[in-house]
Amino acid sequence: MRVDIISIFPEYFAPLDVSLMGKARERGILDIHLHQLRDWTHDVHKTVDDTPYGGGPGMVMKPEIWGAAVDAVIGEGRAASGEDTLPRMIVPTPSGRPFTQEVALEYAKEPWLLFAPARYEGIDSRVVAEYGARLRADEVSIGDYVLAGGEAAVLVMVEAVGRLLPGVLGNARSVADDSFAPGAMANLLEGPVYTKPPVWRGHEVPEVLLSGHHGRIARWRRDEALRRTLERRPELAARLDRESFDKHDRRV
Ligand code: SAM
Repeated sequence: MRVDIISIFPEYFAPLDVSLMGKARERGILDIHLHQLRDWTHDVHKTVDDTPYGGGPGMVMKPEIWGAAVDAVIGEGRAASGEDTLPRMIVPTPSGRPFTQEVALEYAKEPWLLFAPARYEGIDSRVVAEYGARLRADEVSIGDYVLAGGEAAVLVMVEAVGRLLPGVLGNARSVADDSFAPGAMANLLEGPVYTKPPVWRGHEVPEVLLSGHHGRIARWRRDEALRRTLERRPELAARLDRESFDKHDRRV
């Protein structure tokens, strides 16, 4: 997958050299290109923002600079691939579509993502309108809080999408067993996990996990996932497919 990120802080993305994402890049599974937005400015101060129309505090990022940057990055990506493709553009904003595991899975199927993280009060809204008409452009929120800039949101999304790419995780089953995974884990949180020793500071590992009985262990894991979801995320539990519940599920 090719990933382009345009930002006034490209150095913010150093963590993508580390751990799973670093390895995915080394192996060529994740091809990340960082771009400095200010390279598309023309004044000595390399200005990317201006005062908002209608007044009010804060500054808004200028559409001409973003337009020039996005056009150039798309041109560069198309020349490199030699194909007539366009990226899926993702603009982080607190007012966007909520980023979920489902959205991460959707993005993991794309060959090319282009992220446009903003600073200040965001990017002039005509930029999303323009690219929304030319390619698929999504405004996406990573949660109901406000960050200082979109870079941290991009790190979150690249990591969530990157670990879903074939070959990134050692064991592909981990993805299917994760919280929120489509199928058996849809709308479910994963239950508690344990490793050796069997007793630590008087806390015992649940006996069933030491039994070696795969059927009982699978049943226990499902019960714990249901219990935890009901307790911690009742709004998620409300979306569970109760039609498909067996009699054990109903008891939980
Ligand atoms: N005034 C904006 C609002 O209330 O929606 C917030 C601007 S915020 C200070 C600056 C930038 O950080 C946003 O344009 C966006 O790129 C990013 N950002 C902040 N919170 C975010 C979130 N929850 N999800 C995704 N991006 C976020």
